[in-house]
Formats: sequence, structure tokens, C-alpha cells
Amino acid sequence: MSSKVIIIGAGHAGGAAAGFLRQYGFEGHITLIGAEPYLPYQRPPLSKAWLKGEASLDDLYLRGDTFYTDQNIDARVNTQAVSIDRVNKTVNLLGGITLPYDHLIIATGSKARPFPVPGADRVPHHLLRTLDDAEALKNALQPGHRIGLIGAGYVGLEVAASARHLDCEVTVFERENRILARVASQALSNFFTDMHKGRGVSIITEAAITELSLGDGDKKVVHLADGRTHEFDLLLVGIGALANDDLAQSAGLECANGIIVDEQARTSDANIFAIGDVTSRTLPIYDGRFRLESVPNALEQAKQAAAAITGFKPPVTETPWFWSDQYEFKLQIAGLLRPDCRAIVRGDPASGAFSVFHLDSGNRLQTAECISKPADFMAAKLLIAKGVALDDTFADPEVSLKPYLGR
Ligand code: FAD
Repeated sequence: MSSKVIIIGAGHAGGAAAGFLRQYGFEGHITLIGAEPYLPYQRPPLSKAWLKGEASLDDLYLRGDTFYTDQNIDARVNTQAVSIDRVNKTVNLLGGITLPYDHLIIATGSKARPFPVPGADRVPHHLLRTLDDAEALKNALQPGHRIGLIGAGYVGLEVAASARHLDCEVTVFERENRILARVASQALSNFFTDMHKGRGVSIITEAAITELSLGDGDKKVVHLADGRTHEFDLLLVGIGALANDDLAQSAGLECANGIIVDEQARTSDANIFAIGDVTSRTLPIYDGRFRLESVPNALEQAKQAAAAITGFKPPVTETPWFWSDQYEFKLQIAGLLRPDCRAIVRGDPASGAFSVFHLDSGNRLQTAECISKPADFMAAKLLIAKGVALDDTFADPEVSLKPYLGR
């Protein structure tokens, strides 16, 4: 067993990996290096409870403040790794310190995709990745303020719901012809479009933004290709994220939309692991490579790396899953959305509790999008992993999924 592990990135994956290493019996030295001024915290509440003032800093932290000292984990905040020397097995920190490792875990997460539109470099706008970003946004969300949200992915729509809760006027701009176009089915887009519009959010799809400019009194102006302009007190750009893999690329590790890892989270260098948003990984039930941005993925890969380093039993790969909370609705998605599937809506969307099941050509369940239907979600995760075939009778929510679980 190696005696020195360095983890670069003290986010969800890095923080969890430090804990799993100890849990799996690692007795050597663990150094956790984080560029942010905080010990590892959870990002999901940033667009939800934090913005609404319903969460404290203690609620966000992954672990209590004594965990790291109790577990003899050398957790360094405000510390940035600037390069990796694979030959000498060292990590160089900003400020000139060099640390040796036997095993290295890269958990540097993802970064906001820049908005490539004229004026975006001059017109102040918010991003939402970190606690500091969320705090700045929270302070700016004043009742009655007009908020422009560019990008209708999950984070943007969660902010829309939180901003309406705070009595802001909200307009969402989406380049595609429907919200959540890249990540959800038509049925789910329709549901959330109705929910947001019903709560006073204005949604502009097929929005071709050509420019941002500054208006009178510090207003931020969004210009559309059709000549319309919209003025806001505050803009948030949420158009997706990119892998934070610069360090890995500079060190010559194999990368392609993230650091390429195997099912043990091992990179092209046997002594280096990568986990969380920064990775490009395989999944047993789908062909291809995926860069997943989710907490379940971060935790699973943290376990994989810790298990590989300690020789502990590797975790069973889960069906990938994700959640989003908007207003009173809890969305849980099991599996990855695929274009070649047929959708069956199980239950009535108007009731606010339903699921969309996606079946492949062999009627095997591949994905389930469940709104406030936790039992459907739990069953779907198992059915997807087992490759169980269903049929159209499952459009009736009274038809039980239970008999299929034992198959
Ligand atoms: P991160 O948590 O981003 O951590 C990476 C850390 O590495 C950062 O702290 C960064 O500062 C640090 N770092 C980077 N480079 C260096 C360096 N060179 N030196 C030192 N430190 C470095 N997922 C869900 O499943 N459900 C949700 O509802 C959900 N909501 C979300 C809402 C928001 C607003 C955001 C931003 C994300 C949300 N996610 C959600 C995604 C989830 O939070 C991420 O998938 C998860 O945080 C990934 O963990 P990670 O450790 O890979 O990356």
C-alpha cells in the first residue's frame, strides 16, 4: 500500500475520496489540495436552498470541521496545484512548494463554459460554480429586480425557480427550440415549460443572442438577432461546463473531453487517478465514453480510486443518476437519455407526479425521468441495470413494476 496520496481538488469528489481512503484502511499520508477558501462542500444547494436563504455554510459542508484533523488528512485550502511532474512523482503548488506522491488523484471538476458573444467581456454577468459565485448572486437577487438567465439547463432553471421565490422578474433565454433540450425528453421539457410559465417566468426559445451591452443606469442589455432587446438588472450565464483538465493535459495524460479513465478511475498513468466532473469514463450498460457532471458519479469514482489504491473491494457500478429540484417538484433521472429510444409517459403530467420511461428497440428500459415519483425512480435504476424489457402497459401508473425486479 502506498504511503503518500495527494488529491488535487477539494470538491465533492476529492473530499469524498479522502474519506473513503481512510474508511478503506489507508494509513499513509493524505494531502487534499483545494484552490477555494473552503473545505469540501456540496454544490447542488447553491442554486436551490442557498439562494433562497434556506441553507447555512454548515449545511453545505461535506464533513464537520474536525473530520480532517481527526482523520489525519492534511487539508489545504486556498492552495493551487500548478503542475504535475510524472517522472519525479511530484506536484508543484503555486508559491513554489513541491510535494511528493506515490499515488495522485486529480479531482479538479469543471469550469463554466465562456459565453462567446460580443460584449460578454465588458458587460458584468454572474456565473454559478462556486460558493463565492452563489453568495454574489444571492446578494444581487433583490425583490422586483429583472433577471436575465442565459441558458435553460438544470442550473439555470433552478436559479429561475429560486429567483421567483425571491420575487424577482425572470426571463430565460434558450438557444434551442425547447428548454433542457440537451438533457431531457420533450415531455419533460413541456412539463417544466408549463411549470415555469405558470409561475411567471418568461421563456424565450430559439433565442439567437448577438450581443450584450450596457444600458442606462448600469442595466445589462441582451440583443437578439431579430432586433429585439431586453434590459436587466442582473444577468446569469449558465451555458454548460468544460472539464478542468489543463493540469492533466500539461502533464501528458490522455484527455478527450476530460481525463480518460478506466473503471477503476485510473488514468493513462498507472499511479494517477482522476475522479468526478473532470473525467471521461465508460459505463457497463452503454457504449462510448461519458463526462458526467453529477454527485453520484463523483462519489462512485471516489470509491473506485480509493478501492484501487487500498486494494479494497471495488464498488458495484451504479446506473448513472441525477436529480434537480425546481419549485415543489423533485426530478430524478435514472440512466442516460438516448436519441434512439421510444418514450412512454407513465401517469398524468398535469398531476405533477409522473415518469417518462424510455425503451430501446428491444423494449428494454434505458432511461427514466421521474417527477415526484421516487418509487418509479428506485425501480427504474434496477430495471435499467438488469436490462429488463417493459411494454406500453406501463403507461398506467397502477401497473406495478415490482414483479419485474426479481427477473
Ligand atoms: P467540484 O465539486 O467542482 O470540485 C472541484 C474542485 O477542484 C474545486 O473546488 C476547484 O476549485 C478545485 N480545483 C480545480 N483546479 C485546482 C487546482 N489546480 N488546484 C487546486 N484545486 C483545484 N449534481 C447533482 O447530481 N445534482 C444536482 O442537483 C446538482 N446541482 C448543481 C448545482 C450547481 C449550481 C452546480 C455548480 C453543480 C451542481 N451539480 C449537481 C453538479 C455537482 O455539484 C458536481 O457534479 C460535483 O460537484 C462534481 O464534483 P467534483 O469534485 O468533480 O468537482
